[in-house]
Amino acid sequence: MHSDLRALGLKPVSPGVFDGGWRGCGECVAKCSPIDGRVLARVRHATRAEARAAVGFAHEAFLEWRSTPAPVRGETVRQLGEAFRRRKSALARLVTLETGKLIGEAEGEVQEMIDICDFATGLSRQLHGLTMPSERRGHRLMEQWHPLGVVGVITAFNFPAAVWSWNAALASVCGDAVVWKPSSKTPLTAIAVTRIAETVCHGTGANPAIFGLVVGSPEVAGDALLEDKRAPLISATGSCRMGGTIAAKVGARFGRTLLELGGNNAVIVAPSADPDLAVRAIFFGAIGTAGQRCTSTRRVILHASRFADVRDRLLAAYRSLRIGDPLDRRTVMGPLVDAAAVADVQTAIARLKRQGGEVLCGGEPLRGRGFAGGCYVTPCIAVADNGLPIVQEETFGPLLYLMRYENFADALAMNNAVPQGLSSACFTRDQREAEQFLSACGSDCGLANINCGTSGAEIGGAFGGEKATGGGRESGSDSWKAYMRRQTSAVNYSDELPLAQGIEFGGG
Ligand code: NAD
Repeated sequence: MHSDLRALGLKPVSPGVFDGGWRGCGECVAKCSPIDGRVLARVRHATRAEARAAVGFAHEAFLEWRSTPAPVRGETVRQLGEAFRRRKSALARLVTLETGKLIGEAEGEVQEMIDICDFATGLSRQLHGLTMPSERRGHRLMEQWHPLGVVGVITAFNFPAAVWSWNAALASVCGDAVVWKPSSKTPLTAIAVTRIAETVCHGTGANPAIFGLVVGSPEVAGDALLEDKRAPLISATGSCRMGGTIAAKVGARFGRTLLELGGNNAVIVAPSADPDLAVRAIFFGAIGTAGQRCTSTRRVILHASRFADVRDRLLAAYRSLRIGDPLDRRTVMGPLVDAAAVADVQTAIARLKRQGGEVLCGGEPLRGRGFAGGCYVTPCIAVADNGLPIVQEETFGPLLYLMRYENFADALAMNNAVPQGLSSACFTRDQREAEQFLSACGSDCGLANINCGTSGAEIGGAFGGEKATGGGRESGSDSWKAYMRRQTSAVNYSDELPLAQGIEFGGG
């Protein structure tokens, strides 16, 4: 077994359930690396009973954790961040081995985990409520924030650690317990991260069941979370289809959802744009993580006067990029997560051609020496109309569509004319265009950037998108409020009752 896996406490066969203790009596599933197809380790999945029990143990842990002072909760999260700092290299290599993302990207992912722990530690002293003047004499009126309960966290394969940390760091300082259902494509990272959290809790005296884990299928591990009323919030990251199913199931029991779903992110290149800046941002936005980021650039809306120049520069960059081992720092694009993802890209390209799109380069699977495992593909650029059915969907791989516009209003309309609303960017040196893009009538996405690309996130800002992207916000700003329940309270410090004061109450 790989030494990094051993160093992180993984075994050739690891249990995939943590509820304060480690278990897993379900199916034993091998996890192969997309780098070379070799088996990394095996994981014992949760049974239905184990997954349900994990929610129960997390709920018991919550009942105690919610009355632990918030800054004391923050100390556990501070130490979690320190533990991630110490294990950054090993954890990043595991992320690369398991997902195929570049080692530099994986290090960035672990750094995000560290950063959100720092953020949440400070936040543990700032879970501020409000006081406001009461309309009733002798009364104080306030709004306060209380812990919510067990938060079910369902994550996608492409950020196998950072998305958990966004949720878990905020939820735990807010006084919640978390039960994590990771993608079945990335169970090893989830086990390694949970082991780190367990050790930290043993050190601080927190009940480690606040960081529960259930590795398993959506039907077994997923449903255990979705159907359990002891989990008032389900925070789910993944495809729009998954989000629709989850929202219906959790909504049926009046649970809350925080949805972070697919994107279909566009870059507008205006006549005044700096072409070097725009091309670099499009290139890295489209081929970063082999096009498997929710914020990956998928559509480029080019002013007709810039079309040929930007197209040719992108083609030159695509034809010379180095594809291969993501652990080699010279590599620019690694493998996709599995062979099925390569097949999905091929299917999308075939559909694109049938619908009238024109492929300019790429899209071929790579085989042979250095490409064992069948997960490598050359990145594809195509010319396509925004309205084509395939362009309206998110293809989760390195497939980039170029399209033309004549006037800025059309470019804005094209940016918005897709079901998803996650990220967007506009390259322009015209201040009026920049302001229009960011205005109420501009981009309808949760993220809108001027002269920087669509991909990536800073933990300080609220992250998420509109429309079919789900409307959820995670990470910075006041996203913590999603993990708490709001209570409006009045205190009467007089000896009169409000009605006796002759004040009429409206509403409620
Ligand atoms: P996916 O939808 O296949 O799976 C995501 C997670 O949901 C996995 O853990 C999966 O097991 C689980 N799941 C799927 N169906 C479920 C169900 N019916 N009940 C319970 N759980 C269920 O997505 P993926 O292929 O892992 O990830 C890629 C997708 O995630 C892309 O669409 C991407 O845009 C999106 N994503 C969005 C964000 C964001 O912040 N908006 C971030 C990362 C990824």
